[in-house]
Amino acid sequence: MKKTKIPKDKVNLILDLKKSGVSNIDVLNVIEKTERSFFIDESLKKKSNLNIALPIDCGQTISQPLIVGIMTQCLDLSKNMRVLEIGTGSGYHTYILSQLARFVYTIERHKPLLFKSEKIFRKLNVSNIFSKHDDGGLGWMDQAPFDRIIVTASAPEIPQNLLNQLSEDGIMIIPIGDDYSDQVLKKIKKKDNKVLSENLISVRFVPLLEGKEN
Ligand code: SAH
Repeated sequence: MKKTKIPKDKVNLILDLKKSGVSNIDVLNVIEKTERSFFIDESLKKKSNLNIALPIDCGQTISQPLIVGIMTQCLDLSKNMRVLEIGTGSGYHTYILSQLARFVYTIERHKPLLFKSEKIFRKLNVSNIFSKHDDGGLGWMDQAPFDRIIVTASAPEIPQNLLNQLSEDGIMIIPIGDDYSDQVLKKIKKKDNKVLSENLISVRFVPLLEGKEN
């Protein structure tokens, strides 16, 4: 079989992720084979394999690959799971999740961002991503419960609607904190009707805002 050559900056990115705690081989493989440049502006494509967050439309950001790796690894996904993602943004993380789960339901409050990512999903021929323009803090009632929930914007506290829509034994990964400089990534587990919470790492996400923008 012909082996495609992996660019040097991509090799360095994967090494960097491994060094920084991303050890799940499926997660690393998916990040390696996913072209992050598809999800960002032409002018930034040269930076697509750098381990940094980058600006996207509507004043938002595409997450740093390390954060995508850590969050995805902590979700502990398998191929039969249904995942809810709040904050589609560029669609990059959504596409990563779609390669590791059965179905991904993603919600974005900025219409232009959602349209752009939906266009990319169509181009990539993805058939297991469902998306909608809405306030993700409300969750996706009709499709609940979810095995996994991932929130890629920071909330002052865990939104109750999302907690209600998480299955028993489900996992939610969410950044919590009011202030941009004081956020912690939390892993929430629902077990025997109890909510268990574990702090993972310090992070910097854009805020989870109420309502939607056209
Ligand atoms: N995972 C995305 C991260 C985008 S930044 C990526 O890597 O590209 C976070 C996104 O969350 C932004 O696009 C922002 O508009 C969105 N967001 C913030 N509050 C939201 C809400 N209540 N519902 C849905 N999306 C929200």
